[in-house]
Amino acid sequence: MDLLTTLVDKGLRRELPTRDEALAVLATPDDELLDVVAAAGRVRRQWFGRRVKLNYLVNLKSGLCPEDCSYCSQRLGSTAGILKYTWLKPDEAAAAASAGVSGGAKRVCLVASGRGPTDRDVDRVSQTIAAIKEQNEDVEVCACLGLLSGGQAERLRAAGADAYNHNLNTSEGTYGDITTTHTYADRVDTVQQAQAAGLSACSGLIAGMGETDADLVDVVFSLRALDPDSVPVNFLIPFEGTPLAKEWNLTPQRCLRILAMVRFVCPDVEVRLAGGREVHLRTLQPLALHLANSIFLGDYLTSEGQAGQADLDMIADAGFEVEGAGTTTLPRHRADAAGCGSPAGSCGTHDGSPEAHEGGCGAHEGGCGTCAEPAAASASSASAPEAPVEPVDPVEPAAVPAAAPAGTARTDLVAVRRRGAGTDLPPNA
Ligand code: SF4
Repeated sequence: MDLLTTLVDKGLRRELPTRDEALAVLATPDDELLDVVAAAGRVRRQWFGRRVKLNYLVNLKSGLCPEDCSYCSQRLGSTAGILKYTWLKPDEAAAAASAGVSGGAKRVCLVASGRGPTDRDVDRVSQTIAAIKEQNEDVEVCACLGLLSGGQAERLRAAGADAYNHNLNTSEGTYGDITTTHTYADRVDTVQQAQAAGLSACSGLIAGMGETDADLVDVVFSLRALDPDSVPVNFLIPFEGTPLAKEWNLTPQRCLRILAMVRFVCPDVEVRLAGGREVHLRTLQPLALHLANSIFLGDYLTSEGQAGQADLDMIADAGFEVEGAGTTTLPRHRADAAGCGSPAGSCGTHDGSPEAHEGGCGAHEGGCGTCAEPAAASASSASAPEAPVEPVDPVEPAAVPAAAPAGTARTDLVAVRRRGAGTDLPPNA
């Protein structure tokens, strides 16, 4: 059986691919890219239909972080000219959140720079959650406040938080090359604390930091074992003034292969197209909607995204639909098992493989980095779906114009956020 047919079959059954299969997705040639997207798109549609969940970031506290995450514009020593401000007041954060909800966002992600919250910070965020839910009762709130300490996850849950984000970002083996002020194990521990408190876990990665294909497969397999409900896939925004400013390693085609690999490994999880999509996918962004079932609307934490209306137009033009507030994001088997947050849920089979490791925000360029419509079909009905993916005949490579080579800097596409939270200008939503 050819690779893509095997991966589709496994994805429809929520079965874990092998590492070699995941690596093979990343190694596919550009001539087969659309076949890869079509195959992973079948898995995406099985579990999420044509729905796209919108998430909206509110940066509660920007810059001035004592940690040294190399990718982050808010890190210790960053000279990026980003907005710097301390905690937004609850009413300011609620106003920013409402703009996102009015634009169609179903989830608001409350992010704060820093190693982790103090108990007083948890109080502030609890008041902010209350202010947001008072205005928008149905909105999901995800907190992203860094490393958690004892009892904080439970307090956030009691305050009405639905989810907690903390990304693994990269493989365990390379984590120390990216950050020295905390460890990979610290991150895993925080995700597990969130799960244990009944929060829906959100944890993802950043691609483009100089990692190998094996590193990417490692972190995605670790995420599957950790079993978050949502997995944000960020593409490094190489901010001037950070150590990774010269790391322009991604092409749009590479980004699509990475997203396809994540979808095959975590077939029934909310895969979120996160920071860096405009910068690296550029005109191929609509193809990514066939792989990811979730995006951030509008701006990121410290950089500007495309106009919120452009996001909505892209979704409609590509034949997808914005997920409504009354719809459950996750497939029924996950939503039922998890109550949107149980550690027992599922990146598929919750296989507990030996590679399971003990988990910044969904949108990496700031710091820290989820529930859903029942799947139309069960795993058994999944075995009688569309026609198998046929291998394609090779085409003459000379007929295909060369893509911009990896390493081509597009600093013109990186814009520091100057509007929305922390400014007097209206947010982009
Ligand atoms: S990712 Fe978070 S912890 Fe790391 S430097 Fe940025 S704000 Fe600080």
